[in-house]
Amino acid sequence: MNNTLTLLGGGALQRPNIWRQIVQWVFLLWIMWLGLRFGQFVAHFVPGSDAPFVPRPTGVDGFLPIGGLAGLKLWFFGGEFDPTHPAALVLLLTFIAMSLFAKKSFCSWLCPVGTLSEAAWKVGQRVFGRNWRIWTWLDYPLRGLKYLLLGFFVKILLLDMPAFAIASFMQTPYWAISDVKMLSFFTSPSVLTLWIVGITSALSFVYKNFWCRYLCPYGAMLGLVSVLSPFKIRRNEDTCTNCKKCSKACPALLPIHRKETVISVECTGCLTCVDACPHASLRMGTLLERKPLPRWVFPLLVLGIYIGGVSIGMLSGHWHSNLEYADYLRLIPMSGQFSH
Ligand code: SF4
Ligand code: SF4
Repeated sequence: MNNTLTLLGGGALQRPNIWRQIVQWVFLLWIMWLGLRFGQFVAHFVPGSDAPFVPRPTGVDGFLPIGGLAGLKLWFFGGEFDPTHPAALVLLLTFIAMSLFAKKSFCSWLCPVGTLSEAAWKVGQRVFGRNWRIWTWLDYPLRGLKYLLLGFFVKILLLDMPAFAIASFMQTPYWAISDVKMLSFFTSPSVLTLWIVGITSALSFVYKNFWCRYLCPYGAMLGLVSVLSPFKIRRNEDTCTNCKKCSKACPALLPIHRKETVISVECTGCLTCVDACPHASLRMGTLLERKPLPRWVFPLLVLGIYIGGVSIGMLSGHWHSNLEYADYLRLIPMSGQFSH
């Protein structure tokens, strides 16, 4: 008890990285609760089931980022905000806004895969005493993989598929119950899925954020947007002793001790380096402020954009699906007829 109080009183609350980890795990638990509720919702509509009805948790639309991207094109060029899974587009826009103002903070503050990846390399660090780095000559081409995947989705959805084709797709039963298909992707994974998850999980214990660094197209897109963020890690060269503790701690493996300003698509705004610096030589800030902003400003910005984005979606009537009970009653029993 005394230790806890000492930790809290002794500066833990001044360390934004600790706040980030609290947010990460609270968000992960909340996502798991959403998944559970959605599973109960779907179970009610399975033929022969006597499971009670629970309302559909709209937040599960966050698991439809590709649909959100398609919805973005439809909204932009067709002027129509997808009414079937509007929250998918609201969440996509919110996470893009987060990247635009607060680096790739979605990845290190909210993404459940990011949270589990971070937990995996930290466990690996304890078990093996260290994490490994992939050789530089291999690291660069591997980092390109996530951009290839992103390019593939951008080409198919944003370049090749006309807005009217997207509008037609979004009226199909497949899109209506794409969330149910996503659930079965997690609850009844194919052998290939299990292999991919197994291999990337194993590698995540050895290499920091293996999935995020090399394979995640969503993170790739947010990273590209984050270059425009006015907030960046800035190093005070006058107080820095070049001890390199920041660079050693950085989960994105960035050479912070050599930079005055960290300009990188890989920086997730995790603030680990800020906490690691023994001389308070690092800050997450803009070029504009005369004196360093208080440390709570950036965490507040991240959470503020998230809460603000979701609130705008809700208040503007672009959150809940227009599907009704009778639609689910008809569609969910058919979900097995659609392939992944
Ligand atoms: S530079 Fe700092 S904020 Fe950016 S990823 Fe590395 S440790 Fe996190
Ligand atoms: S941890 Fe701080 S003092 Fe050490 S190299 Fe990084 S910025 Fe400089």
